[in-house]
Amino acid sequence: MFQSSDKKEIYYKTDEEVELIREACILNCQTIAYVGSLIKPGLTGKFLDEKAEEFIRDHNAVPAFKGYGANPFPNTLTISVNEQVVHGIPSNREFLDTDIVSVDCGVMLNGYFGDAAYTYAMPNISSSVMKLLQVTKLSLYKGIEQAIVGKRIGDIGFAIFELCEKQNKFGVVRDLIGHGLGKNLHEDPDVPNHGKRGNGVVLRKNLVIAIEPMINMGTKDVYSTGDGWTIITKDRKPSAHYEHTIAVRPNKAEILSDHSFIEEAEKKNENILAVTI
Ligand code: MG
Ligand code: MG
Repeated sequence: MFQSSDKKEIYYKTDEEVELIREACILNCQTIAYVGSLIKPGLTGKFLDEKAEEFIRDHNAVPAFKGYGANPFPNTLTISVNEQVVHGIPSNREFLDTDIVSVDCGVMLNGYFGDAAYTYAMPNISSSVMKLLQVTKLSLYKGIEQAIVGKRIGDIGFAIFELCEKQNKFGVVRDLIGHGLGKNLHEDPDVPNHGKRGNGVVLRKNLVIAIEPMINMGTKDVYSTGDGWTIITKDRKPSAHYEHTIAVRPNKAEILSDHSFIEEAEKKNENILAVTI
């Protein structure tokens, strides 16, 4: 997400740089986990956003989204509820027990960026919405399975699309995509959530990319609301978003953004449901 306008050449990282990105990613996931330990019906996105910013700054890092873009994003987290797909501005609306809440966070630590997102489930969501979350989360791992040396960018999108749209009839958002990252929050290449097998950029060792399926219960079509940031589904049906930052390796991609922090917090929090796949 956050489309970049000043794309550069693809830059393959050194092993040292991959380690620095991993450190940023771990702090980033610990931030999303901290949010996951607090989140419950009745809280607001604004409250969680303040907590997340405090947490990041206490760890000598900088929120990556705050001030981003030509129309500077005002907050640390993007919090996108229900029909909001991504880029939701944290607000004073209290979460309902039937909401799904997508939390996207980025940090910059020691000059390198980490990016990840997770959709949390409030306790009384319907089974069909839970299925949307499970399929979206599973599709992220199907995409990651393809991110190995010698495959192509199109293989990642193909795997996500097959599971979400072909098999489960969910809408795969086309207008927003994953991306490379490193010293910049957004670098080449683009990483769409649909694609043709064997098409696109060849994946080489130490290419670092964010894979981030944004999957809608209904239509794939989305639009931008009047605040200049929030993207919502055209039919107002719910949308889910899971994201990892990974490094391409020969036989198995290396996940740099460890979601286990998030999943532990999610399991311990009795006020939400765990999204298990
Ligand atoms: Mg991203
Ligand atoms: Mg993100």
